[in-house]
Amino acid sequence: MIRRVKGTRDILPPESRLWVAVEAEAHRIFSGFGYDEIRLPVMEPTELFVRSVGEGTDIVSKEMYTFSDRKGRSLTLRPEGTAGVARAYIENGLGQRPHPLRLSYMGPMFRYEKMQRGRYRQFSQIGLELLGAATPEADVEVLLVLHTFLAALGFDDLVIVLNNLGDPEDRERYIEVLKGELTPHRERLCRDCQRRWDENPLRILDCKVPSCREIVEGTTPVGEVASPESQTHVAAVEEQLSALGIAVRRAPRLVRGLDYYLRTVFEVISPELGENTVICGGGRYDRLISDLGGSQVPGIGFAIGEDRLVEVLPESTRERFLGERPVAVLPVGGGAATVALDLARKLALAGVRAEVEVTGRSLKAGLKWAGKLHARWVVILGEDELAVAQATVRHMDTGEQERMALDSVARRLAGGTEAGVD
Ligand code: ATP
Ligand code: MG
Repeated sequence: MIRRVKGTRDILPPESRLWVAVEAEAHRIFSGFGYDEIRLPVMEPTELFVRSVGEGTDIVSKEMYTFSDRKGRSLTLRPEGTAGVARAYIENGLGQRPHPLRLSYMGPMFRYEKMQRGRYRQFSQIGLELLGAATPEADVEVLLVLHTFLAALGFDDLVIVLNNLGDPEDRERYIEVLKGELTPHRERLCRDCQRRWDENPLRILDCKVPSCREIVEGTTPVGEVASPESQTHVAAVEEQLSALGIAVRRAPRLVRGLDYYLRTVFEVISPELGENTVICGGGRYDRLISDLGGSQVPGIGFAIGEDRLVEVLPESTRERFLGERPVAVLPVGGGAATVALDLARKLALAGVRAEVEVTGRSLKAGLKWAGKLHARWVVILGEDELAVAQATVRHMDTGEQERMALDSVARRLAGGTEAGVD
């Protein structure tokens, strides 16, 4: 037996319906705010991620799926979406379009990580980017879209945490301050943090090892060393979000794992997920496009981990997305099959989910099959019925049934499966 690659998943029906519904909701809300999808390659030149995400990050230093193609080019399966968006922006001259530019994306990402609940080697993200606006209002819009999407999915216990990373110049200064404060404790930091000390000292702040956390508690928050401009910016974001009724909490030691962020960074946390609680991360990246050789175009965006999002979907939403019960169409006897398929076509076009019995079961076996499908209605098409252009429609829960004209079945079942056949 051939097994799937470690860290990848098979998403089976009916669970896959949750994914389809979540993505449909994302398209609906995002497009309502003016965001259109950009569909990008899953593989990119390795250099793109090295130069944007950053060499010292966990992603680039140890998580990328990098390989040589047959001509020896170094390619990488994308570990995140923003770098590709920036590359495509420059390459396609999107700077010519009216700004700000609103883009969304969704699809698989790849990171070589330790497999655990909520952490996979192939996972999906749903993200968006707002390019060409450096104002606090842009940040507020992006967080508003995020909040609106999550609320539409029925979430009400998620926490948005936010921080000010300052500008890149502040960061240099801050790292000096941080290292100074950590020096007396340097020996007690974990092995990973010893490595981070030189490679990416900011990441010491979000080490999950309890002893490191304790040490970090005593350090100066990055936002306090940040430029007055960035402080005013983030304060304005917080103020406007509060005016919109969106609760955010300042997390003074929140940093993010990608080098390109500055000023506003944020995460959405689900208390339910245990260790991997973060379902969304985002932030501002005003230098990314210019660092990659494009013009000075500010940007802000977020990426939701779809796997984690689906895992913690509220029960009522799950039911809403999974609850639809099909109509089972049961042809019995010669000639009924095409009539059944014709009815299925009408039902499908009317938005009613119908499954046709196409294996030739008897009436009795067919009803049993319909029961297993959890069908709400069974439409029985027997010789008696067809002789007079009728169908028998049986309600599976009550056992009540009624004969009706064949050409009225689709209309009546579409008219309200709950209310029953009138
Ligand atoms: P974490 O700290 O959990 O590793 P991250 O900071 O590496 O997250 P981001 O790069 O910000 O993650 O990606 C945005 C979101 O994508 C995360 O908040 C998470 O929901 C999801 N995500 C990231 N890596 C994985 C993974 N390996 N498996 C599943 N989802 C993931
Ligand atoms: Mg990670």
